[in-house]
Amino acid sequence: MEANEMYDAAIIGGGLGGLTLSIKLAQQGKKVLLVEKETYPFHKVCGEYISMESWDFIESCGIPLKDLHLPIISQVRISAPNGYYLEQKLGLGGFGISRHSLDHLLFKQALKLGVNAIQNCKVTGITFENNHFEIQSSSGIFKSYYTFGAYGKKSNIDIQLKRQFTQHKKQGKQNYIGVKYHIKTAFPDNLIALHNFKDGYCGISKIDQESYCLCYLTTQQNLSKYGNQIKAMEEAVLFKNPSLKKIFKESEILYQKPLVISQIRFEPKPLIEQHIIMLGDAAGLIAPLCGNGMSMAMRAADMISKLFPKNVACIEERDEFEKVYSKTWNKNFATRLRAGRIFQQLFGSTLITWLIIAVLKPFPGVLNKIIRATHGEPF
Ligand SMILES: Cc1cc2nc3c(=O)[nH]c(=O)nc-3n(C[C@H](O)[C@H](O)[C@H](O)COP(=O)(O)OP(=O)(O)OC[C@H]3O[C@@H](n4cnc5c(N)ncnc54)[C@H](O)[C@@H]3O)c2cc1C
Repeated sequence: MEANEMYDAAIIGGGLGGLTLSIKLAQQGKKVLLVEKETYPFHKVCGEYISMESWDFIESCGIPLKDLHLPIISQVRISAPNGYYLEQKLGLGGFGISRHSLDHLLFKQALKLGVNAIQNCKVTGITFENNHFEIQSSSGIFKSYYTFGAYGKKSNIDIQLKRQFTQHKKQGKQNYIGVKYHIKTAFPDNLIALHNFKDGYCGISKIDQESYCLCYLTTQQNLSKYGNQIKAMEEAVLFKNPSLKKIFKESEILYQKPLVISQIRFEPKPLIEQHIIMLGDAAGLIAPLCGNGMSMAMRAADMISKLFPKNVACIEERDEFEKVYSKTWNKNFATRLRAGRIFQQLFGSTLITWLIIAVLKPFPGVLNKIIRATHGEPF
């Protein structure tokens, strides 16, 4: 494609939302640009448990999941900081695959379908004028009729667009960090464990390559108390949960050092900014304990691809598309995000987490109902 070519759609960010959207639009014959600042394959802080609701969708993107022999996760164990736990069968369940593997597979598939997928390229500015976008990046300027923000939970673009939530003061307790390791351990293939500790929780479940993903979320404040030393915090706080101490002590950690991200926040965000259509975490981040953020990003990609205007140059079609996407997105996700925010606040206190587990333990149907409140049907 020539440098000055006008794309039907430019997608900023090649995570699950951006990659699957690029594939779906390319399958419809659209001219698509995808820009990712990193170089594939790369690791990402994520629990790597994917709700089963997305299985068919990922396969429809051309990724033969059934041939990859991935672990199918059908059981959940939730423990309180003191080790008290419940275990039960999951309704829909999920499967495990590392982002290193899945994002790379999708990237290769996007290239195969003719997407101009550019890696190692950072978008630095986006402007909308005369019914089209100009995208400034480290690899030059691109033009498109539509631009999609699939750049994740925080990006330089949020600041460039002066998105409202970037102007808020950052308070320690609402500011989270995420930490991830890949480990080799003795752990059931079909189980996801959610072990709580003071002001945080840690998920463990199997992924591809006979490895397990161990990923936790806690407050920035928790880390600050231990001089911003991850190891010191883990030993002082996470190890109080006997299940977590056992896993850390008895597993082989496959990274030299943990993968860490900071400034994770869960407040609502506007869905459309200066005609840029957001999806995935750029539109709203669900609490990771729901194990559903990846499916939400892909479901939004599916929605956009089904609503994408026939005539990209038509202003009336743009207006209609923005209206219908907002309505459909809110119908599908607003309640889930609200429920996720409530659950996020409930976990992390020793007493409350213990109480929740004690109340839910005799009623497995209730926990599955709660899980369903943050999940959707297969698509
Ligand atoms: C601790 C933690 C655990 C989680 N565990 C799970 C889980 O087990 N299951 C689940 O379903 N969800 C989980 N999630 C949520 C899940 O990771 C996200 O919801 C999902 O990755 C969102 O996908 P996305 O495509 O919106 O963004 P991302 O996957 O984050 O992709 C965004 C991409 O945009 C790129 N980018 C950013 N800025 C620019 C720029 N200026 N130019 C070019 N590229 C740019 C980034 O490099 C990145 O690759 C977890 C989240 C956290 C924080």
